[in-house]
Amino acid sequence: MKVLVINAGSSSLKYQLYNMQNETVLASGSVERIGMDSSIVTQEVPGRDETRDVSEILDHVTAIKRVVDMLTHAEHGVLERIEEIEAVGHRVVHGGEVFKQSVLVTDEVKLEIRRLFDLAPLHNPAHMMGITAVESNLPGVPQVVVFDTAFHQSMPKESYLYPIPTVLYRRHKIRRYGFHGTSHHYVSDQAAAFLEQPLESLKMVTCHIGNGASCTAIKDGKSFDTSMGLTPLEGLMMGTRSGDLDPAIVPFTMNKEELLLSEVNSMLNKHSGLMAVSGISSDMREIVEAMEDGDKNAKLAFDMYTYRLRKYIGAYAAAMNGLDVLVFTAGVGENSTHVRAAACEGLTFLGLELDHERNAVRSRQTRRISTDNSRITVLVVPTNEELLIARDTFSIVQDK
Ligand code: AMP
Repeated sequence: MKVLVINAGSSSLKYQLYNMQNETVLASGSVERIGMDSSIVTQEVPGRDETRDVSEILDHVTAIKRVVDMLTHAEHGVLERIEEIEAVGHRVVHGGEVFKQSVLVTDEVKLEIRRLFDLAPLHNPAHMMGITAVESNLPGVPQVVVFDTAFHQSMPKESYLYPIPTVLYRRHKIRRYGFHGTSHHYVSDQAAAFLEQPLESLKMVTCHIGNGASCTAIKDGKSFDTSMGLTPLEGLMMGTRSGDLDPAIVPFTMNKEELLLSEVNSMLNKHSGLMAVSGISSDMREIVEAMEDGDKNAKLAFDMYTYRLRKYIGAYAAAMNGLDVLVFTAGVGENSTHVRAAACEGLTFLGLELDHERNAVRSRQTRRISTDNSRITVLVVPTNEELLIARDTFSIVQDK
């Protein structure tokens, strides 16, 4: 079965076409600048040169049409007929409390996703546009939605409730949802398989640190706590997001700086984190480079980032009364030797010993970076959210 995986944003979308017989990617690509002229469709097929097409794409229906045209293109395509796409899987950011796992798209499911627009106003409406665009271009093809929040639905109440008036939870469902669930789920499975131990027997902390960043405590094979909250702003310090801070800073800053709510929101989401502290960049590569050149603000940003990461790992070890496996993943986690070393440095009291030679090795494979004697096994596990979406889609459509 060939499965098309789509991650639709408001002005761009990414796709991957999988052959599920051997879980290989046949083609991957993106559409950028949807809704503008000179929209760009880019497609990569393993072993071939990249294909680019620039045209006007005013909506998601046209964007999906261009993707299908690209996939079936006589010269650049990988499919002879559009009918070869037997299922489509979508990434959906927010599944609220309704969706505890991936599901087949039905009218009811679409209604629920619409009801969740309030909780993810930047993401869920765009995902819906992706779903309806597939309906118009590939009528009758089953679609599956895979939620970033679903893996965290196993959290107990003490993890997911905030200590604020409970009426806010009852009326507006204000609670911790957590995000990056597909990634935390995927890497925890991979880590357990790598160690040849059942996931249920391991106390694990997974650190998904990329542009956005979150830590998850996994106990009994399930998400027990996670650092992102009602929105992806809470928790770790990120590229442009503040992460945890005193909530009183919001009204205080609004008052002192005469800011609107939308302005504070934008400050905390887009102009904070590594970018704000370093004054240089939100990209960890540039922070490390500047730090090595002696830039004090870059060093401070790096130290704050890794200190906060270490605090979460320690807190989750305490929350689970132990830690067997620590996993690093995503752009920073998979690539930054410096961040991994600094995050682990203060955890020797837990019996964590990093092997600095192993940590320095660059690879796209799952690997151990702790010493053989370390009480906690530290792994780098490349994430692959698209593959998990393809797997869920395949199994749900097969069982239909
Ligand atoms: P992601 O959101 O998972 O795609 O991660 C993107 C982020 O990973 C970028 O913004 C960089 O900060 C970070 N990144 C990628 N490569 C490296 C690297 N070699 N060293 C440090 N950070 C990196």
